[in-house]
Amino acid sequence: MANDHRFEALFEHSSEGLLVCAADGTVLSCNAVASALFGVDKATLVGAAVTGILQQEAGQGPFMLCNGSALAKQDQAPPRPVALRITLLRTAGGPQAIVHLRDPAERAQTQERLAHLANFDSLTGLPNRALFRDRLSQSMARAQRSGLPMALMFLDLDRFKLVNDSLGHEVGDQLLLHVTKVLTQCLRSVDTLLRPVEEPYTLSRLGGDEFTVICEAIGSVEDAAHVAQRMLDALTAPFIAGEEEIVISASIGISMYPDDKVDLDGLIRHTDMAMYRSKSLGRGTYSFFSDDLNAAATARMSLETSLRRAIERQEFVLHFQPKADLRCGKVMGVEALVRWQRPGQGLVSPDRFIGVLEDTGMILPVGAWVIRAACEQLAAWDRMGLPPVRMAVNLSARQFRHMYLASLVEDTLRENTIDPQRLEIELTESLLMEDNEANRAMLENFRRMGVRLAIDDFGTGHSSLSYIKRFNIDTLKIDRSFVQSLPDNEEDVAIASAVIALGRSMKMCVVAEGVETSAQARALRNLGCDQIQGYLLSRPMPGAEFAGWITGYMRARAKDRVGFRAAKPSPTTWFTQLEQVA
Ligand code: C2E
Ligand code: MG
Ligand code: MG
Repeated sequence: MANDHRFEALFEHSSEGLLVCAADGTVLSCNAVASALFGVDKATLVGAAVTGILQQEAGQGPFMLCNGSALAKQDQAPPRPVALRITLLRTAGGPQAIVHLRDPAERAQTQERLAHLANFDSLTGLPNRALFRDRLSQSMARAQRSGLPMALMFLDLDRFKLVNDSLGHEVGDQLLLHVTKVLTQCLRSVDTLLRPVEEPYTLSRLGGDEFTVICEAIGSVEDAAHVAQRMLDALTAPFIAGEEEIVISASIGISMYPDDKVDLDGLIRHTDMAMYRSKSLGRGTYSFFSDDLNAAATARMSLETSLRRAIERQEFVLHFQPKADLRCGKVMGVEALVRWQRPGQGLVSPDRFIGVLEDTGMILPVGAWVIRAACEQLAAWDRMGLPPVRMAVNLSARQFRHMYLASLVEDTLRENTIDPQRLEIELTESLLMEDNEANRAMLENFRRMGVRLAIDDFGTGHSSLSYIKRFNIDTLKIDRSFVQSLPDNEEDVAIASAVIALGRSMKMCVVAEGVETSAQARALRNLGCDQIQGYLLSRPMPGAEFAGWITGYMRARAKDRVGFRAAKPSPTTWFTQLEQVA
């Protein structure tokens, strides 16, 4: 009797839902939790049949049971599955079963919690070593498949042990949380526009003060160096713990895959070795596993640093190269070409630094300066009374992503009272290939403003003719490489003549770039090309020289013309030389 009471008390107050069922599944009794789980009162539950239970073997792991329609009232939500476990009882009245019920939602939560514990670091919530290895092997497989390299980085805090030992574990933990936050924010803010992956970075904590970053679809070694440098910079802000201000730094090791042809453990080992290289280099720095990559990254980073300084110190200058009409020799316009006056190194050609400016986003301030300086120069020449020429400016695709470019151009033209028709924007073919919203909107903006559009280096990429038509491109510039071997190379003659025919049929002005000899100019004129630009006419020159140059050029032309008429040619300009032989 006492036993029965005790059983009942246990039964009723169990935190688990419990049913006692007969062999045929009829519910003989139930507790409060069970009736709550089924969402019916006890009286309804008792006597209802829960079929098929006793055929299941006892102890056979949890399975799902739906409260049958007999239990569900009409207006109730659809029956909710319940997880259960069964204990078999042999009683004098035949076999009975105790059914243990549990809310499946709670069960899923527990499972999730367990899975989380197995895969994530309990302090920081970052993926732990197990999940890191898993993600790494997936990333490596993707890099193999796609051919887009990935970078693996190990980041180890410098002198973390010292903080931990002197200030205590609590401060140590706080510091690790701080580092996690800083790194997460830093990785999130790195430009991911060009990455065809959803989550390009995986930050994990392997334990202690060791963090790893998997960077997928990283463009280049330089990009990897960039990410590393940004993390190092982000960590330099001091961390305040109570009264203490802790200054931290970290050492980073980087390896690239599939450049480093190794398996998962090999890649981890290489990255670890690179990290130790950083430590031995005096900490607070990053290193690559490979020597070549280290040399390339170092050179590149020092170039970047110098370029940053160049912007602050305004070390850029513009040179201008004239373009002339092939039929009359008149100067029609100039192209603004940027140069870098690098201290101690003279003038640096844009081919050496435009790429870096583009990659780092520095092209935005420099490009804006180019537009302003070119327009100011044009206005200055106008004030000097020089014959009005057109100004061509080169724009990178990267600049097109920023809508302020349109208003910058518009404002600059207005401030300098320049007719928009006198500004020509030179675009690369790759920009026209990329048919995206930003490019389209920007091109439309320029069209609306009345600025002229040119395609630079035509023939080296793949232009879409429909784009050329749609945006009413005004000018095609035949790339220098097709001009070089004119008129002897038949293939180049064929290409030049095709481009010229295309341009004329679409009513565009065709300009040949890089014309160095009379023979090239003559061949181009015979093919119907409109203008030339190149050393034959003039090299690019500083703005201050242009006034003298164009005045001299016009005088020489006039003199040639007089001499030509008097049949006493003493040619001084390229143009008269052409006329003479023709
Ligand atoms: P580009 O726009 O095709 O400019 C023509 C390049 O050919 C210039 O090189 C010019 O100096 C060179 N050139 C002109 N005539 C001759 C010739 O007869 N023979 C030879 N061999 N070369 C000739 P530069 O000034 O070194 O500029 C190189 C490229 O850098 C430019 O090619 C342009 O794509 C880019 N660039 C220059 N300035 C800027 C700028 O302000 N912004 C941007 N985004 N790119 C620029
Ligand atoms: Mg150009
Ligand atoms: Mg060009």
